[in-house]
Amino acid sequence: MTNSDSDDRLVWRREGLPFNAFGASLRRRFGGRVQRVSIDAGFTCPNVDGAVAKGGCNFCDNRSFSPSRRVRLKRVGEQLQSGIESVRRRYGHVQGFLAYFQPATNTYAPVDQLEEVFRMALNWDEDIVGLAIGTRPDCVPDSVLELAQSMAADHYVSLEFGMQTMHQPGLDWMNRAHTHDHMINAIDRSRDRGFECCVHIILGIPGETHAMMMETADEVARLGFDAIKLHNLYAVQGTPLGEQVSAGNVQMMQRNDYVSTLVDFLERIPPTTVVERISGDAPPKYLIAPQWCLEKSSLKRQIESEFKTRGTQQGARYKPPTPLAKDRPRPEDNTPPSIRSQIDVRGRLPVLKMER
Ligand code: SF4
Repeated sequence: MTNSDSDDRLVWRREGLPFNAFGASLRRRFGGRVQRVSIDAGFTCPNVDGAVAKGGCNFCDNRSFSPSRRVRLKRVGEQLQSGIESVRRRYGHVQGFLAYFQPATNTYAPVDQLEEVFRMALNWDEDIVGLAIGTRPDCVPDSVLELAQSMAADHYVSLEFGMQTMHQPGLDWMNRAHTHDHMINAIDRSRDRGFECCVHIILGIPGETHAMMMETADEVARLGFDAIKLHNLYAVQGTPLGEQVSAGNVQMMQRNDYVSTLVDFLERIPPTTVVERISGDAPPKYLIAPQWCLEKSSLKRQIESEFKTRGTQQGARYKPPTPLAKDRPRPEDNTPPSIRSQIDVRGRLPVLKMER
């Protein structure tokens, strides 16, 4: 038996599956069904409040973010409770839950305050097995990574980074207000700390060719993320992108093009990377376009069928990069001072008071 044959992360391949799906990987890890429970803790975003830019990403409905929002411990508890109850009603026995801090930038508050919120979530119910924390690559100073590392000593912890693309014109078009250098720096400082790093990628950004999207795939493979969430660019109401799409100024990717590009992408990433999402996800009443991303089940079947027709699996075209030196020093933290000043401070910021 070779090393790769004995690697648990490759069980999916031996089972003949097309890619390393998240649900099955959690089942293998925790011995049963594990479900995410989404939490809105009331954070805002440095791309909305002016720390690095205003207005936010063009696809993000951030109307509910505002500097007066408060981290609400009580509301976090209530959301966990009702989320857990609703999952139990739907699925019966569930092995565990992940508290998923989803909207806004969930590492953008004084680090003591972050610790209070995250530890409260971890201790809320004995079946909560871990956390998933959505953030930006320029919003993880070393203090935040050290916190994630300490929580990962006895829980599953995943930091989810919005990279979206490696190409600066695409980042600028979306008004991301960070560079790809921030992503490289963040992952370099995150490795070997015991928590997982998940990357978010968008396919179909206007101006990006197929070759550019494949460069992003190769870059994701080179950077060595543990997990990936992929989706097509989609437009929802209340966003600048929604207005552009409604006015006919931006075209969305066609379904067949997306499926074939997604499969090309997955063929380039390592087989050990867990695939957490393969298409866009918006409530039907908010979605403007493309409507095909609502057909999740048939889209998934089409993606699986594309792999089957090609006779390939995730990682079929992956070329392992030269391994990084084990004793390589971590790079200097390049978090912008305007963001760091909101995180590396003691106590609580006036705009982010704790409410019980
Ligand atoms: S960085 Fe995230 S939370 Fe902030 S505006 Fe962009 S998508 Fe929204």
